[in-house]
Amino acid sequence: MTQTTKNSPPSPLGSLARKTPPFAAENQASLPSHQNRVLAHVETFVFDLDNTLYPSHCDLWPKIDARITLYMMHHLGLDGLSSRALQKHYYHHYGTTLRGLMQEDAVGAEDFLAFVHDIDRSSLPPNPTLADAITRLPGRKLILTNGSRDHALNTAKALGLEALFEDVFDIADADFVPKPHPTAYERFFDKHAVDPARAVMFEDLTKNLLIPHQRGMKTVLVVPKPGQLDHRDKIEIAGREIPPHIDYVTDDLESFLLGLLEDATNKP
Ligand SMILES: [Mg+2]
Repeated sequence: MTQTTKNSPPSPLGSLARKTPPFAAENQASLPSHQNRVLAHVETFVFDLDNTLYPSHCDLWPKIDARITLYMMHHLGLDGLSSRALQKHYYHHYGTTLRGLMQEDAVGAEDFLAFVHDIDRSSLPPNPTLADAITRLPGRKLILTNGSRDHALNTAKALGLEALFEDVFDIADADFVPKPHPTAYERFFDKHAVDPARAVMFEDLTKNLLIPHQRGMKTVLVVPKPGQLDHRDKIEIAGREIPPHIDYVTDDLESFLLGLLEDATNKP
């Protein structure tokens, strides 16, 4: 580990990571290769799923969001507006709407997850460039998601990534305690024997990278390209200030990974 450890002097990359978007792609392109070697120690590559392995302009989340509203209308006997309001209240209070439904309404997780993730993924194009980059990463590759395993597998399949990951750690594996709660990460580290000090996490939400950073992981925030549609909840979208627990920012995950591989190839 070299330039960007927590207590090291700030590197050019570290300072770039704290600038406001858009910045990542152009900065990566200008980086001398030795500055990318900060990830050379990494053994495990951990990926969030939604809005990380596919961009946030894809319409998967709005489809899931609408299915959650519909599920709550059916199961709680609510009209659309009331269902929507309670859905968002649970999300913000419990971290996921599901956790609120389990705590307050004794809703069964399996039934909920199967219903809300029963969506059309045909709008999600295969991403062979990302598949190539992930394939070539020298280490273990895992998905860590607040969604379900089936959703992760079906989404990865639509992207052409289904064979590339060792496993998926889903919300059931986390006993329905979602990221960013520390327990979710501890269960993940334990189940998959991941040493956080030798791992990196890719994620679209800054709040979900705080505990990983504190546990020693390198953190990469994946943001939309400038001007790109962003279907995530507005409250979830990062502000223009990048918090210090973010080590890297990119609006192009494929290029970021390929840059790491190029650096590894050039290593003397
Ligand atoms: Mg996400």
